[in-house]
Amino acid sequence: MPIYEYKCKNCGEFTKMQKISAQPLAICPTCGGEVERMISKNVGVVFKGSGFYTTDNKQIKDRARSLNKERQKDNQALLDGDVGGYVKQADSTDKKVSGA
Ligand SMILES: [Zn+2]
Repeated sequence: MPIYEYKCKNCGEFTKMQKISAQPLAICPTCGGEVERMISKNVGVVFKGSGFYTTDNKQIKDRARSLNKERQKDNQALLDGDVGGYVKQADSTDKKVSGA
């Protein structure tokens, strides 16, 4: 099972082992705060391109969030062993990122 990394607004980053098919956590198991899932570093592949942003600007944050979602699709394709699909998806994400 892959280990997913989450970021809690209150207590920071933590990891959780979950099935690929499992729903991502929305609530921190420690404090009940809002969490966001990050792309796992344990996939063993260097992700192409940029696309992850951290910022306090609300507008950019919304944009970054949608781009991060695209990146999760990249990741999912990869986890499914669909390398061709991954490359295609990553390329389309790169286009969206450069248009940001
Ligand atoms: Zn927390």
